[in-house]
Amino acid sequence: MQFSDLDLIDPILKALAEEGYTTPTPIQQQAIPILLNRRDLLGCAQTGTGKTAAFAIPILQLQDEERNKNPKAPRRIKTLVLTPTRELAIQINESFAAYGRHLNFRHTVIFGGVSQHAQVNTLKAGIDILIATPGRLLDLMNQGFVSLRDVQFFVLDEADRMLDMGFIHDVKRVIAKLPERRQSLFFSATMPPDVAKLADTILRNPAKVEV
Ligand code: AMP
Repeated sequence: MQFSDLDLIDPILKALAEEGYTTPTPIQQQAIPILLNRRDLLGCAQTGTGKTAAFAIPILQLQDEERNKNPKAPRRIKTLVLTPTRELAIQINESFAAYGRHLNFRHTVIFGGVSQHAQVNTLKAGIDILIATPGRLLDLMNQGFVSLRDVQFFVLDEADRMLDMGFIHDVKRVIAKLPERRQSLFFSATMPPDVAKLADTILRNPAKVEV
């Protein structure tokens, strides 16, 4: 199978070719069609399987479809990706940049441990795609710099690590602010009962993919 068999739009196929990708990985082969059909997804996959592209590619395509319906609409956060660490957040942001380079989106990354000043300024300019660690996101939400009212695509990445790192309460507070109508994606390397329970509270009739 090739990426060109997956019903992807030309600007994305072009970006993937430029990245040197030819064949989708197993999680990409399974997840991309499910996500393009606008279903929720429960993905059991480790880092290194290509899971970032498995969610970033279809989200970029669906968000591009939405944007084309109303190209002049002001930019609001339509995609939120929550991930446990700064390193992962930066990598995910770079993936959105790479696969979306021929599309017209603004994306950014926010995490703690650094001054919030530059992050706030970027947010104020209008952002379509936000990648965040939970603590800093809540902080900026509480100060009124981030609204999740317009989120249509929500990704919870590395859920098991999120719980191990003690972020469960922060994650739940963020989820409470998401619109009910949304497409949700949940990824975890392992699925112990507490992780499965969290997935249940976030996902609606999810398709399950395991690699
Ligand atoms: P991830 O599991 O998302 O951390 O991705 C692992 C690595 O695989 C990253 O460096 C990606 O750039 C790379 N990658 C993802 N998908 C593909 C693909 N279909 N072909 C070649 N490399 C890929």
